[in-house]
Amino acid sequence: MKAARIGIDLGGTKIEAVLLDVSGAVRFRERVATPTGDYAGTVAAVAALVGRIDAEFGGGSPVGIGTPGAWVPERRQMKNCNSTWLNGRPLLDDLNAALDGRVRIANDANCFALAEAEGVDAEVVFGVILGTGVGGGIVVGGQLLAGANAIAGEWGHTPLPYFGVDAAADGREASLEDRPCYCGRTNCVETFLSGPGLARTHEAFTGEELDTPVPTDSPALDLYTTMLARSLAQIVNVLDPDVIVLGGGVSNLDVLYREVPRKLPRYAFTHEGRTQIVRARLGDSAGVFGAARLGG
Ligand SMILES: [Zn+2]
Repeated sequence: MKAARIGIDLGGTKIEAVLLDVSGAVRFRERVATPTGDYAGTVAAVAALVGRIDAEFGGGSPVGIGTPGAWVPERRQMKNCNSTWLNGRPLLDDLNAALDGRVRIANDANCFALAEAEGVDAEVVFGVILGTGVGGGIVVGGQLLAGANAIAGEWGHTPLPYFGVDAAADGREASLEDRPCYCGRTNCVETFLSGPGLARTHEAFTGEELDTPVPTDSPALDLYTTMLARSLAQIVNVLDPDVIVLGGGVSNLDVLYREVPRKLPRYAFTHEGRTQIVRARLGDSAGVFGAARLGG
């Protein structure tokens, strides 16, 4: 099929593939479970999905893949993946070997930001994923800003600002324990603002251990929106985006869109409040659609 594009979203729990035709319509879409902890199995699962698309629609379409972490061209290996079995592995080279050299790669939050920015009338967009992890991507004038170290937008591994010392926050914050992060540091934004981070705060406040999303009346949510406002205020101070798009499982909570815009000016070096904070339009699909856009 001429000018079709394949997008792959390689997540920690599932791998999703789409085929978009020249008009952008979805011709194929499927999710399979990620072979967690199994690098060779992960490469094989991606190659198998693309192989099925090739068999059904004709081969040769370019493949864009969104992954956690980043590809380091100099070392030809992955880094910073919370799917840690990918770290240090030559993922792009192995996929290109399996798929005739037609694979491009980008961080999954960058793919999310790229797809979401398409529908937004703004010069600078910061895309945020609040999911299993916390990621971000920066789109300026419709183009991804990758960065010199391929980590632009990775605010999830900056320290949570004012942890335990914010007089305007829920007083129970000071009682929370320090949170080591897989990146080797402690109290990263991700350890509080990811879905598991929110669940952990809920447990600390209620004693209730959850295996489902945090309920909408959780006593942890007031502090969560404060923490998110504080963390996004750092982004506003540095990048001052026109729009911040929230995606990932936690972004489904309505309270974010009421409370974060109200609280953010408290922590930013401005009181204008022009930054729009909006919900992702494409929901779970943004990552895989953005990945398809990498393919040319
Ligand atoms: Zn970290």
